[in-house]
Amino acid sequence: MQHRNHRIVLARPLSGVPLAEDFRMQEAPIPEPGPGELLVRHVYLSLDPYQRSAIAGRHMGGRQPLGAGGMPMAETVGQVLRSRNPAYREGDYVRHFGGWQEYALSSGEHTEVLAKNRAPLSTWLGVLGMPGLTAWASMVELADVQPGQVVLVSAALGPVGSMVGQIAMQRGAVAVGIAGSDEKCAFVRELGFSACINYRSADFLGTLAAALPGGADIYHDNVGGQMLADAFTVLKNYGTVILCGLMERYNDPSRSKPLDLALPIVRRAVMKGLVVMDFEDRRAQFADFVAPRIADGRIRYREDRAIGIDATGAHFARLMRGENLGKSIVVLGDEPSFPSAPLQARYSTEKPRLKALLRGT
Ligand code: NAP
Repeated sequence: MQHRNHRIVLARPLSGVPLAEDFRMQEAPIPEPGPGELLVRHVYLSLDPYQRSAIAGRHMGGRQPLGAGGMPMAETVGQVLRSRNPAYREGDYVRHFGGWQEYALSSGEHTEVLAKNRAPLSTWLGVLGMPGLTAWASMVELADVQPGQVVLVSAALGPVGSMVGQIAMQRGAVAVGIAGSDEKCAFVRELGFSACINYRSADFLGTLAAALPGGADIYHDNVGGQMLADAFTVLKNYGTVILCGLMERYNDPSRSKPLDLALPIVRRAVMKGLVVMDFEDRRAQFADFVAPRIADGRIRYREDRAIGIDATGAHFARLMRGENLGKSIVVLGDEPSFPSAPLQARYSTEKPRLKALLRGT
């Protein structure tokens, strides 16, 4: 076992699209748990678009922007190494807010013991985690998607978008995706979506209209800006729009154009904002629906992995350029095996000494 903790901090305040050089690695002693605390060694670190807004001090009303030397927060999954909290045993796998580092202490707050045989452990950060719950909240709680309805979703290969489509299909609806490349769209179609349109292709609006001859009943928006405006061209009258994400503006809100409100008026649209933390009490119901479907392959996913804590900054920059092919994740330690083999992106910042971490994938 190594005897130092490594963490990633800001090398300078972020401006615009993050670069790998905006981050640097720091070394520190591995902390000792005090009374009531546990020490967690991280196996997976989740990179999510909201972290860009959180670093800028804009997330959910905002706090102070993170300055040079500050460590970004993130959900992590790891194994309890030492516990001085009776609710957690050494060897337990847990999910908590451990941040961009290899080891972290937890007081037990927001720290959940994971059933490691229910689904691959990494999925507790993706399709079975916060992004999956977001899709569940959209399709089940807010849009209440019905059999035969048509659901359109942007950023369709990401953990939120891919789950929006798959939950809709599990409920008997038809899913159509929008994504940023032919490669992304090919995988979206493999998930069972009826169509996926690359918005960077020529005549995007014409292709979108052709894929939705009767229009969409529901549009789940992960992007905002022009993408949201474009979706109104295929939304049915009285259709529903779930406002979930603003990917188009996270790196630089000053460049974003406000929505022309004539668009929802003309469509008589119902627009609902989604904040996933409002649905925390549905986690168990959501996991009971999704975990067996992951285990037997009815719900599939793709992960965009980097290996090793020092790859975190570059991998976050890749996510914020929109180049990720699925759930963005950093692998930090040995992965426990799971019987089924999830579909995974092959992109990684793999290093020889860490190749063993990809065993079984
Ligand atoms: P993701 O889809 O894995 O990654 C974001 C994707 O956004 C990129 O891969 C890219 O895909 C797309 N994108 C579109 N325009 C972009 C631009 N200008 N710059 C960069 N990327 C762009 O992310 P996710 O974790 O599933 O999250 C999807 C959205 O849901 C995000 O906006 C996130 O903030 C939001 N979200 C909201 C809540 C909530 O409570 N409201 C909770 C979780 C997530 P393409 O190449 O396919 O366009």
